[in-house]
Amino acid sequence: MSVLDLGVPAVPGSATATTDTSGRPDDARLVDSWGRVATDLRVSLTDRCNLRCTYCMPAEGLEWMPSEEALTDEEVVRLVRVAVERLGVQEIRFTGGEPLLRKGLEDIVAATAALTPRPEMSVTTNALGLTRRAAGLAAAGLDRVNASLDTLRRDRFAEITRRDRLDDVLTGLRAAREHGLDPIKINTVLMPGLNDDEAPDLLAWALEEGYELRIIEQMPLDAGHSWQRDRMITAEQILASLRTRFTLSDDPAERGGAPAERFLVDGWTGHDGTPAKVGVIASVTRPFCGNCDRTRLTADGQVRNCLFSQTENDLRRFLRGGGSDEEIADAWRVAMWGKKPGHGIDEPGFLQPDRPMSAIGG
Ligand code: SAM
Repeated sequence: MSVLDLGVPAVPGSATATTDTSGRPDDARLVDSWGRVATDLRVSLTDRCNLRCTYCMPAEGLEWMPSEEALTDEEVVRLVRVAVERLGVQEIRFTGGEPLLRKGLEDIVAATAALTPRPEMSVTTNALGLTRRAAGLAAAGLDRVNASLDTLRRDRFAEITRRDRLDDVLTGLRAAREHGLDPIKINTVLMPGLNDDEAPDLLAWALEEGYELRIIEQMPLDAGHSWQRDRMITAEQILASLRTRFTLSDDPAERGGAPAERFLVDGWTGHDGTPAKVGVIASVTRPFCGNCDRTRLTADGQVRNCLFSQTENDLRRFLRGGGSDEEIADAWRVAMWGKKPGHGIDEPGFLQPDRPMSAIGG
């Protein structure tokens, strides 16, 4: 590969990659200059989606990544292997866009399951297509599922996602449960005037079904750049709403790098016999960046060290330019060393990243 390739942004509009490694210790893992170690990898497998959630992308969709720019299944597996074998990554989450739109997902999962040490594997999905795919994904080695669902009302579901497919989501979730994908976590975003009255109903349903509900604060990651902080439902409001029907207490378990702050739901037992829990992911009002253990790969092979990062480091050029596994590992280490201490949403100069959530991988 030519030295001239180094530092050239691969994505139009993305800033130059991080290259400064001064002070970095001789550590094979994905350490950053603030003492954190990334062990959890989110891999986006496509920027496309079969829903059109109003808070995520426009009705007509987005300008999709040309297929030749996206990594092939083999390229994805190679990067995952480098992450696990050389960089100490222990957990992999496949996401998108909608990862179930990726035909080779089962093959990617099976190849990941064959790695040593075998990483924990999950998928973040809208659950459409799980009815058909759950058996194959479980057989390939997928451990668990995070599914997105913002409402239990058919008319609202159609309004929020612009598709009338609530029943397909619910049957997809049941299929995942039948095939032993466990636990099933449900991710919900509440929006004022749309579904913010539904938190207690969603929790009651999740408790009955044996799913774990997690309610996420809306973040400035929409394609339309229309997020407004004063229009966002905060963790405080979420908890107040849940407490109108449930008694919640702090979960004494160690939170570690988990994004969700968890609460025990009094009087309820989870499907595994432990006290039932509900999570709140308060990325905006109670950020947890200090414990972040995540690293991200976009579908075109760019490392992002934060959801909100303004820079990306290109790994695809090594894959397509004859680079070695150790060169890939090194470039990844460099990318993570440059991780900022926090996402900076509250800082005056905060800029939303160019890529929307659907193209980064949620
Ligand atoms: N298609 C998959 C799904 O539906 O889970 C994976 C990608 S989707 C972008 C991942 C998650 O991001 C979903 O739970 C979605 O609700 C959430 N999401 C999208 N835009 C968001 C935003 N601006 N703030 C918070 N969460 C968002």
